[in-house]
Amino acid sequence: MPTALITGITGQDGSYLTEQLLAQGYTVHGLVRRTSNTVRSRLDPLFHNKDVYNKSLFLHYADLDDTTTIRRILVKTQPDELYHLAGQSHVGASFDIPESTCQFTGMGTLKILEILRDLEKQPRFLHISSSEIFGRPDESPQNERTPMRPVTPYGVAKTFATQMVQLYRESFGLFACNAICYNHESPRRGESFVTRKITKAAAEISLGLSDEIVLGSLDGRRDWGSAPEYTTAMHLMLQQDTPDDYVLATGQTHSVEEFLDAAFQSVGLDYKDHLKQNPKYMRPAEVTRLVGDPTHAEKQLGWTPATTALDLAKQMTAADVESLKQLATSN
Ligand code: GDP
Repeated sequence: MPTALITGITGQDGSYLTEQLLAQGYTVHGLVRRTSNTVRSRLDPLFHNKDVYNKSLFLHYADLDDTTTIRRILVKTQPDELYHLAGQSHVGASFDIPESTCQFTGMGTLKILEILRDLEKQPRFLHISSSEIFGRPDESPQNERTPMRPVTPYGVAKTFATQMVQLYRESFGLFACNAICYNHESPRRGESFVTRKITKAAAEISLGLSDEIVLGSLDGRRDWGSAPEYTTAMHLMLQQDTPDDYVLATGQTHSVEEFLDAAFQSVGLDYKDHLKQNPKYMRPAEVTRLVGDPTHAEKQLGWTPATTALDLAKQMTAADVESLKQLATSN
Protein backbone atom coordinates (compact mmCIF):
# COMPACT_ATOMS: atom_id res chain seq x y z
CA MET A 1 0.00 0.00 0.00
CA PRO A 2 1.37 3.48 -0.82
CA THR A 3 2.74 5.92 1.72
CA ALA A 4 2.14 9.67 1.62
CA LEU A 5 3.77 12.54 3.48
CA ILE A 6 1.78 15.74 3.93
CA THR A 7 3.06 19.15 5.01
CA GLY A 8 0.25 21.31 6.37
CA ILE A 9 -1.64 18.22 7.52
CA THR A 10 -3.50 20.14 10.23
CA GLY A 11 -4.95 22.63 7.74
CA GLN A 12 -8.25 22.50 5.90
CA ASP A 13 -6.87 20.73 2.83
CA GLY A 14 -4.45 18.52 4.76
CA SER A 15 -7.22 17.12 6.92
CA TYR A 16 -9.48 16.27 3.96
CA LEU A 17 -6.62 14.77 1.99
CA THR A 18 -5.59 12.64 4.99
CA GLU A 19 -9.11 11.24 5.32
CA GLN A 20 -9.28 10.48 1.60
CA LEU A 21 -5.87 8.77 1.50
CA LEU A 22 -6.53 6.70 4.64
CA ALA A 23 -9.83 5.56 3.13
CA GLN A 24 -7.86 4.31 0.12
CA GLY A 25 -5.51 2.29 2.31
CA TYR A 26 -2.54 4.68 2.37
CA THR A 27 -0.19 5.08 5.28
CA VAL A 28 -0.10 8.83 5.96
CA HIS A 29 2.68 10.79 7.63
CA GLY A 30 2.16 14.44 8.49
CA LEU A 31 4.51 17.25 9.40
CA VAL A 32 3.33 19.49 12.22
CA ARG A 33 4.88 22.63 13.61
CA ARG A 34 6.01 22.43 17.20
CA THR A 35 4.10 25.13 19.03
CA SER A 36 3.03 25.42 22.61
CA ASN A 37 -0.51 25.30 21.30
CA THR A 38 -1.39 21.73 20.34
CA VAL A 39 -4.83 22.46 18.93
CA ARG A 40 -5.32 20.31 15.85
CA SER A 41 -9.09 20.24 15.85
CA ARG A 42 -9.42 19.26 12.20
CA LEU A 43 -7.46 16.06 12.82
CA ASP A 44 -8.91 15.32 16.25
CA PRO A 45 -11.26 12.50 15.21
CA LEU A 46 -8.34 10.65 13.56
CA PHE A 47 -5.85 11.57 16.27
CA HIS A 48 -8.11 10.10 18.96
CA ASN A 49 -8.96 7.00 16.95
CA LYS A 50 -6.77 4.19 18.34
CA ASP A 51 -7.20 2.13 15.18
CA VAL A 52 -5.75 4.96 13.10
CA TYR A 53 -3.27 7.08 15.04
CA ASN A 54 0.19 5.49 15.12
CA LYS A 55 -1.20 2.64 13.01
CA SER A 56 -1.79 4.22 9.59
CA LEU A 57 -1.45 7.91 10.52
CA PHE A 58 1.76 9.29 12.02
CA LEU A 59 2.67 12.86 12.93
CA HIS A 60 6.21 14.27 13.01
CA TYR A 61 7.42 17.61 14.29
CA ALA A 62 9.21 19.82 11.76
CA ASP A 63 9.24 23.48 10.79
CA LEU A 64 9.36 24.25 7.10
CA ASP A 65 12.79 25.84 7.36
CA ASP A 66 14.18 22.93 9.35
CA THR A 67 15.83 21.24 6.38
CA THR A 68 17.75 18.62 8.35
CA THR A 69 14.66 17.35 10.11
CA ILE A 70 12.59 17.26 6.93
CA ARG A 71 15.33 15.30 5.17
CA ARG A 72 15.51 12.85 8.07
CA ILE A 73 11.74 12.31 8.03
CA LEU A 74 11.76 11.78 4.26
CA VAL A 75 14.55 9.23 4.47
CA LYS A 76 12.86 7.44 7.35
CA THR A 77 9.31 7.35 5.95
CA GLN A 78 10.22 6.76 2.26
CA PRO A 79 6.95 8.21 0.93
CA ASP A 80 5.66 7.46 -2.56
CA GLU A 81 3.85 10.79 -2.65
CA LEU A 82 4.61 14.12 -1.00
CA TYR A 83 1.88 16.74 -0.75
CA HIS A 84 3.26 20.16 0.13
CA LEU A 85 0.30 22.09 1.47
CA ALA A 86 1.92 24.08 4.29
CA GLY A 87 2.52 27.80 4.32
CA GLN A 88 1.10 31.10 5.48
CA SER A 89 -1.96 31.20 3.23
CA HIS A 90 -3.78 34.36 4.24
CA VAL A 91 -3.51 37.01 1.53
CA GLY A 92 -4.53 39.88 3.82
CA ALA A 93 -2.02 38.85 6.49
CA SER A 94 0.76 38.64 3.87
CA PHE A 95 0.75 42.46 3.68
CA ASP A 96 1.57 42.60 7.41
CA ILE A 97 4.13 39.76 7.42
CA PRO A 98 5.68 39.70 3.93
CA GLU A 99 9.07 38.39 5.02
CA SER A 100 7.82 35.31 6.82
CA THR A 101 5.25 34.71 4.05
CA CYS A 102 8.11 34.58 1.52
CA GLN A 103 10.31 32.56 3.81
CA PHE A 104 7.78 29.77 4.40
CA THR A 105 5.73 29.89 1.20
CA GLY A 106 8.59 30.59 -1.21
CA MET A 107 11.85 29.42 0.31
CA GLY A 108 10.13 26.59 2.22
CA THR A 109 9.13 25.04 -1.11
CA LEU A 110 12.58 25.46 -2.64
CA LYS A 111 14.16 23.81 0.39
CA ILE A 112 11.95 20.74 -0.02
CA LEU A 113 12.72 20.56 -3.75
CA GLU A 114 16.43 20.68 -2.97
CA ILE A 115 16.08 17.77 -0.55
CA LEU A 116 14.11 15.75 -3.13
CA ARG A 117 16.80 16.32 -5.74
CA ASP A 118 19.30 14.41 -3.62
CA LEU A 119 17.07 11.51 -2.58
CA GLU A 120 17.61 8.06 -4.00
CA LYS A 121 13.92 7.26 -3.92
CA GLN A 122 12.16 10.45 -5.02
CA PRO A 123 8.49 10.71 -4.12
CA ARG A 124 6.03 12.22 -6.54
CA PHE A 125 5.61 15.83 -5.42
CA LEU A 126 2.56 18.08 -5.34
CA HIS A 127 2.80 21.77 -4.51
CA ILE A 128 -0.40 23.64 -3.74
CA SER A 129 -0.16 26.82 -5.78
CA SER A 130 -2.73 29.59 -5.90
CA SER A 131 -4.76 31.75 -8.26
CA GLU A 132 -2.97 34.67 -6.56
CA ILE A 133 -0.04 34.01 -8.94
CA PHE A 134 -2.16 35.55 -11.72
CA GLY A 135 -2.85 38.77 -9.76
CA ARG A 136 -4.18 41.14 -12.41
CA PRO A 137 -4.25 38.97 -15.51
CA ASP A 138 -4.86 40.20 -19.04
CA GLU A 139 -7.07 37.24 -19.81
CA SER A 140 -10.10 35.73 -18.16
CA PRO A 141 -10.58 32.92 -17.35
CA GLN A 142 -7.00 31.93 -16.56
CA ASN A 143 -5.45 28.59 -17.48
CA GLU A 144 -2.08 26.87 -16.98
CA ARG A 145 -0.46 29.06 -19.68
CA THR A 146 -1.64 32.45 -18.37
CA PRO A 147 1.34 34.67 -17.45
CA MET A 148 1.90 35.15 -13.72
CA ARG A 149 1.48 38.76 -12.55
CA PRO A 150 1.02 38.66 -8.77
CA VAL A 151 -0.05 41.76 -6.84
CA THR A 152 0.16 40.59 -3.22
CA PRO A 153 3.13 39.37 -1.12
CA TYR A 154 1.46 35.97 -0.91
CA GLY A 155 1.05 35.90 -4.69
CA VAL A 156 4.69 36.84 -5.24
CA ALA A 157 5.84 34.08 -2.87
CA LYS A 158 3.56 31.51 -4.53
CA THR A 159 4.82 32.57 -7.98
CA PHE A 160 8.39 31.91 -6.89
CA ALA A 161 7.45 28.49 -5.52
CA THR A 162 5.35 27.57 -8.57
CA GLN A 163 8.12 28.46 -10.99
CA MET A 164 10.68 26.55 -8.92
CA VAL A 165 8.46 23.46 -9.12
CA GLN A 166 8.35 23.85 -12.91
CA LEU A 167 12.12 24.37 -13.03
CA TYR A 168 12.86 21.26 -10.94
CA ARG A 169 10.48 19.24 -13.13
CA GLU A 170 12.10 20.41 -16.35
CA SER A 171 15.74 20.64 -15.27
CA PHE A 172 16.07 17.81 -12.75
CA GLY A 173 13.33 15.44 -13.94
CA LEU A 174 11.34 15.44 -10.69
CA PHE A 175 7.76 14.22 -10.84
CA ALA A 176 6.55 17.58 -9.54
CA CYS A 177 3.12 19.17 -10.09
CA ASN A 178 1.47 22.48 -9.23
CA ALA A 179 -2.19 22.43 -8.23
CA ILE A 180 -3.12 26.01 -9.10
CA CYS A 181 -6.04 26.31 -6.72
CA TYR A 182 -8.65 29.03 -6.74
CA ASN A 183 -10.30 29.72 -3.39
CA HIS A 184 -11.67 26.54 -1.90
CA GLU A 185 -13.84 26.48 1.18
CA SER A 186 -15.53 24.12 3.62
CA PRO A 187 -16.82 24.08 7.19
CA ARG A 188 -13.12 23.60 8.13
CA ARG A 189 -12.02 26.87 6.53
CA GLY A 190 -10.04 29.12 8.88
CA GLU A 191 -12.21 31.73 10.58
CA SER A 192 -10.31 34.73 9.22
CA PHE A 193 -11.28 33.96 5.61
CA VAL A 194 -14.32 35.87 4.50
CA THR A 195 -16.55 32.86 3.73
CA ARG A 196 -16.15 31.28 7.15
CA LYS A 197 -16.31 34.64 8.89
CA ILE A 198 -19.67 35.19 7.19
CA THR A 199 -21.12 31.72 7.85
CA LYS A 200 -20.03 31.76 11.49
CA ALA A 201 -21.60 35.20 11.98
CA ALA A 202 -24.83 34.13 10.24
CA ALA A 203 -25.00 31.09 12.54
CA GLU A 204 -24.30 33.14 15.69
CA ILE A 205 -26.82 35.84 14.79
CA SER A 206 -29.50 33.25 13.94
CA LEU A 207 -29.02 31.67 17.39
CA GLY A 208 -29.14 35.05 19.16
CA LEU A 209 -25.47 34.88 20.18
CA SER A 210 -24.44 38.03 18.34
CA ASP A 211 -26.02 40.83 16.37
CA GLU A 212 -23.52 42.13 13.83
CA ILE A 213 -20.86 41.26 11.31
CA VAL A 214 -17.97 43.61 10.49
CA LEU A 215 -16.49 43.29 7.00
CA GLY A 216 -14.37 45.24 4.52
CA SER A 217 -15.31 45.61 0.87
CA LEU A 218 -18.20 43.50 -0.45
CA ASP A 219 -17.28 44.01 -4.09
CA GLY A 220 -14.47 41.45 -4.37
CA ARG A 221 -15.36 38.50 -6.59
CA ARG A 222 -13.94 35.03 -6.15
CA ASP A 223 -14.10 31.68 -7.89
CA TRP A 224 -15.08 29.65 -4.81
CA GLY A 225 -15.09 25.84 -4.88
CA SER A 226 -15.25 22.99 -2.40
CA ALA A 227 -12.04 22.00 -0.56
CA PRO A 228 -12.58 18.18 -0.47
CA GLU A 229 -13.23 18.21 -4.22
CA TYR A 230 -9.91 20.00 -4.75
CA THR A 231 -7.93 17.56 -2.62
CA THR A 232 -9.44 14.70 -4.66
CA ALA A 233 -8.00 16.35 -7.77
CA MET A 234 -4.59 16.76 -6.07
CA HIS A 235 -4.42 13.02 -5.51
CA LEU A 236 -5.43 12.31 -9.12
CA MET A 237 -2.61 14.60 -10.31
CA LEU A 238 -0.01 12.30 -8.77
CA GLN A 239 -1.55 9.17 -10.35
CA GLN A 240 -0.90 10.35 -13.94
CA ASP A 241 1.86 9.03 -16.19
CA THR A 242 3.53 12.44 -16.47
CA PRO A 243 3.76 15.39 -14.09
CA ASP A 244 1.96 18.60 -15.04
CA ASP A 245 0.30 21.73 -13.65
CA TYR A 246 -3.47 21.94 -13.31
CA VAL A 247 -5.84 24.82 -12.61
CA LEU A 248 -8.45 23.73 -10.05
CA ALA A 249 -11.43 26.08 -10.21
CA THR A 250 -15.17 26.16 -10.87
CA GLY A 251 -15.08 28.71 -13.70
CA GLN A 252 -17.77 30.82 -11.95
CA THR A 253 -17.35 33.88 -9.75
CA HIS A 254 -19.54 35.38 -7.06
CA SER A 255 -19.14 38.59 -5.08
CA VAL A 256 -18.59 38.70 -1.33
CA GLU A 257 -22.04 40.33 -1.16
CA GLU A 258 -23.69 37.41 -2.98
CA PHE A 259 -22.06 34.92 -0.62
CA LEU A 260 -23.11 37.04 2.38
CA ASP A 261 -26.68 37.27 1.11
CA ALA A 262 -26.92 33.50 0.50
CA ALA A 263 -25.50 32.60 3.92
CA PHE A 264 -27.80 34.97 5.83
CA GLN A 265 -30.86 34.03 3.77
CA SER A 266 -30.26 30.34 4.52
CA VAL A 267 -31.04 31.05 8.18
CA GLY A 268 -33.88 33.48 7.46
CA LEU A 269 -31.89 36.71 7.97
CA ASP A 270 -31.29 39.86 5.92
CA TYR A 271 -27.60 40.73 6.10
CA LYS A 272 -28.39 44.45 5.70
CA ASP A 273 -29.86 44.43 9.22
CA HIS A 274 -26.54 43.27 10.71
CA LEU A 275 -23.67 44.52 8.51
CA LYS A 276 -21.04 47.04 9.62
CA GLN A 277 -18.08 47.90 7.41
CA ASN A 278 -14.59 48.80 8.60
CA PRO A 279 -11.66 49.96 6.43
CA LYS A 280 -9.43 47.77 8.62
CA TYR A 281 -10.56 44.79 6.55
CA MET A 282 -9.91 46.46 3.20
CA ARG A 283 -6.84 45.42 1.19
CA PRO A 284 -4.09 47.74 -0.14
CA ALA A 285 -4.50 45.90 -3.46
CA GLU A 286 -7.24 43.55 -4.65
CA VAL A 287 -7.19 40.92 -7.32
CA THR A 288 -10.08 41.68 -9.61
CA ARG A 289 -10.50 39.26 -12.48
CA LEU A 290 -9.58 35.92 -11.02
CA VAL A 291 -11.61 33.08 -12.47
CA GLY A 292 -10.14 29.74 -13.44
CA ASP A 293 -10.59 27.51 -16.46
CA PRO A 294 -10.51 23.88 -15.21
CA THR A 295 -10.65 22.33 -18.71
CA HIS A 296 -7.24 20.67 -18.45
CA ALA A 297 -8.13 18.99 -15.13
CA GLU A 298 -11.52 17.96 -16.53
CA LYS A 299 -10.02 16.37 -19.64
CA GLN A 300 -6.88 14.81 -18.18
CA LEU A 301 -8.03 13.87 -14.67
CA GLY A 302 -11.73 13.34 -15.37
CA TRP A 303 -12.41 15.77 -12.53
CA THR A 304 -15.44 18.06 -12.35
CA PRO A 305 -16.16 20.57 -9.61
CA ALA A 306 -19.73 19.95 -8.42
CA THR A 307 -20.35 22.34 -5.50
CA THR A 308 -21.13 26.02 -6.19
CA ALA A 309 -20.31 29.01 -4.00
CA LEU A 310 -23.96 29.40 -3.07
CA ASP A 311 -24.16 25.70 -2.08
CA LEU A 312 -21.09 26.31 0.09
CA ALA A 313 -22.69 29.34 1.76
CA LYS A 314 -25.64 27.16 2.81
CA GLN A 315 -23.61 24.09 3.80
CA MET A 316 -21.07 26.06 5.81
CA THR A 317 -23.76 28.08 7.62
CA ALA A 318 -25.65 24.87 8.48
CA ALA A 319 -22.42 23.29 9.78
CA ASP A 320 -21.69 26.35 11.94
CA VAL A 321 -25.24 26.32 13.36
CA GLU A 322 -24.81 22.63 14.18
CA SER A 323 -21.45 23.04 15.92
CA LEU A 324 -22.68 26.02 17.96
CA LYS A 325 -25.68 23.98 19.10
CA GLN A 326 -23.41 21.09 20.07
CA LEU A 327 -21.15 23.46 21.97
CA ALA A 328 -24.15 24.84 23.86
CA THR A 329 -25.33 21.34 24.90
CA SER A 330 -21.83 20.22 25.94
CA ASN A 331 -21.35 23.28 28.21
P1 GDP B 1 -8.44 35.56 -0.41
O1 GDP B 1 -8.07 36.97 -0.20
O2 GDP B 1 -8.91 35.35 -1.81
O3 GDP B 1 -7.44 34.57 0.01
O4 GDP B 1 -9.76 35.23 0.50
P2 GDP B 1 -10.44 36.00 1.71
O5 GDP B 1 -11.55 35.10 2.15
O6 GDP B 1 -9.46 36.40 2.75
O7 GDP B 1 -11.04 37.34 1.05
C1 GDP B 1 -11.96 37.27 -0.02
C2 GDP B 1 -12.51 38.66 -0.32
O8 GDP B 1 -13.29 39.12 0.77
C3 GDP B 1 -11.47 39.77 -0.58
O9 GDP B 1 -11.92 40.53 -1.70
C4 GDP B 1 -11.54 40.62 0.68
O10 GDP B 1 -11.19 41.99 0.45
C5 GDP B 1 -13.01 40.49 1.02
N1 GDP B 1 -13.34 40.80 2.42
C6 GDP B 1 -14.26 41.72 2.84
N2 GDP B 1 -14.30 41.75 4.18
C7 GDP B 1 -13.40 40.85 4.63
C8 GDP B 1 -13.01 40.43 5.95
O11 GDP B 1 -13.51 40.89 6.97
N3 GDP B 1 -12.05 39.46 6.03
C9 GDP B 1 -11.48 38.89 4.89
N4 GDP B 1 -10.57 37.94 5.03
N5 GDP B 1 -11.84 39.29 3.64
C10 GDP B 1 -12.78 40.25 3.51
